[in-house]
Amino acid sequence: MRAVFSLLFLLSGTTSTLAYDLVISGGRVIDPETGLDAIRNVAIDGDRIAAISEFPLHGDVIVDAAGQVVSPGFIDLHAHGQNIGDYRMQAVQGVTTMLELESGVLPIGEWYETQSAKSLPINYGAASGWTFGRIAAFSGTDPLSTTAYFQDAQSRNDWKNEVATPERLDRILSLVEQGLDEGGLGIGINAGYAPGYGQKEYFALAEMARDHGVATYTHVRYASNIEPQSSFEAIKELIGNAAITGAHMHICHINSSSLSDIHAMLDMVEEAQANGINISVEAYPYGAANTVVGAAMFSGDDWRERMSSTSENFQLGKDRLTEEQLADYQANNPGTFVTWHFLDEHEPMDLALLDASVTHPAVLIASDEVFWSYFTDDGKVLNYEGDAWPLPEKVFSHPRSSGAFAKVLRSYVRERGLMSLSEAIRNMSLMPAQTLEDFVPQMRSKGRLQIGMDADIVVFDPETVADRATFENANQMAVGVNTVLVNGAFVVRDGQLVLDAAPGKPIRRSID
Ligand SMILES: [Zn+2]
Repeated sequence: MRAVFSLLFLLSGTTSTLAYDLVISGGRVIDPETGLDAIRNVAIDGDRIAAISEFPLHGDVIVDAAGQVVSPGFIDLHAHGQNIGDYRMQAVQGVTTMLELESGVLPIGEWYETQSAKSLPINYGAASGWTFGRIAAFSGTDPLSTTAYFQDAQSRNDWKNEVATPERLDRILSLVEQGLDEGGLGIGINAGYAPGYGQKEYFALAEMARDHGVATYTHVRYASNIEPQSSFEAIKELIGNAAITGAHMHICHINSSSLSDIHAMLDMVEEAQANGINISVEAYPYGAANTVVGAAMFSGDDWRERMSSTSENFQLGKDRLTEEQLADYQANNPGTFVTWHFLDEHEPMDLALLDASVTHPAVLIASDEVFWSYFTDDGKVLNYEGDAWPLPEKVFSHPRSSGAFAKVLRSYVRERGLMSLSEAIRNMSLMPAQTLEDFVPQMRSKGRLQIGMDADIVVFDPETVADRATFENANQMAVGVNTVLVNGAFVVRDGQLVLDAAPGKPIRRSID
C-alpha cells in the first residue's frame, strides 16, 4: 500500500505542474505489438504519444474514452481516391494513413506536390506505378499523375495485351525506377489490367524492387477459376518471382483475385511463407470489386465463363447493367468504373469463401477504396473533386470506400465473432505498418500504441462501431468512431469530422 502511495506521490509530483497537450482517459487501450489490452490513460505531446499510464494524467484537453476502445489508427495500403472527400470518408472510419500502392502513380514527385497542396486530413503516399509507365511507353506520351490518365488509356489495347519491345521495356523500367528515385513506396503492378506483358518484364520489376530494397504490390495477371490463365497460375507466377529474386512481393486483394478458388491460393501462400518466401497478402471484406468496365479481364471470348459473370454481375450507380449497356460502355466508355459482384454475400457458401480470406492470419485488411463519382447531366461519370461535407447526395462509390474497416469491427468482430478485437486491430494497423517498415522508416512509429510512437489514434465504441454503406448507397459514413487523431491533431472529435483539420503528412522514402 505504501508503495502505491509513494508511486502516486511521485507521479503527481512529476506531472502536476506539466500538463500534456492531450489526454485520452480511461479507455480500453489495445496495442497489437506488445499485447497490451487494459484500461489506460494515454497522453499526447505534439505529434507523439508521451505517456501511457494506469494513473490519471493531466492534459490541457481531455478526451473521455470510458467504455471505448483506444487503438492505433488504421493504415490502408490500398486506396485509389485522391480527393479530399476520399480521405475524409476514410478518416471517419478510423483510417489515419491511406496509400495508393496497387496502381501507384507516375511521376511520383509531381503527385506528392499535388497532394500536399490539398491540405489533407490523414497521411498519404503512393508507389511508383508500372501501368502508368506501360501506358506511356506504348502511347508515346509522358505519364500524368492522375487517374484520368489511366482511365483514358482504357480505349487503347496495345499496352494491355502486347509484350513490350526491348526499347519499350527500357522506357517502362526507367520510368518506374525514376518513381523509386523520387521516393515512391515500392512498385505498384496492376498486372491484371495489362495481362499481355512478358514474363521477363515482371521478373525485371521484381529484380528492381530487390535492388532498391522495396516491395512490389501486385493485382495479379489473371482472375479465373479455370486453367490455363487462372488465378492459381497468376499467384504462382508472383511467388516464383519472389522466390528467385528475393524481392518482397505483396499480393493485393487475394479475395477478388482468387474468386471461388480462395482455399487453393491461401494454401499456396502458407507454403511459400513457410519456405521463407517474402510475400505479404491483403483482402477487403466484400464480395464485389470495383474496376473499369473496359478492363482486360472482361475481354476475350470466354471471360463470362472464366469469371462466372454476365452483365447482371455489373452495377453502375444503383442499377445492374443489361447486356446492351455493358456492350455500350465497353465500346464507348471503357474507362467507366463499375462494381463487379463476384460473390453473393447473402449466399452462405459465397460468404464462407470471403470469410476465409478476411480471417486468415497471414492476410491484412486493405480497403481498395475507390473514387467518389457522380453522373453528369449527359451521362458521363466523373470523380468528385469538391470539398463539400458531408459528400453531396449524388456521389457514389463502392461501400468499401466508407466502410471496409468499420465492417470488420461490426461484422467479423462483434456480430459474428470470427475475429477478436485485438486480431482485427492488428490486421488493420500493425500488419500494414510492418509490411512497409523495412524500407519506409516512417512506418516504424505507426500501427503501435506505445510511448514515442506517432499519435495516429482512433477511439471507437466497440458496441456501436459500424459501416452503413451498401451497394445501393455507399455514401453513408461509418458510425461509432468518436475520436481520430492524426499526428496528434483532431480529425474526428465527438464523432464529427473537423472540417479544417489538415494534419496529414506525406509518407515517402527519402530522396537524397
Ligand atoms: Zn486491384
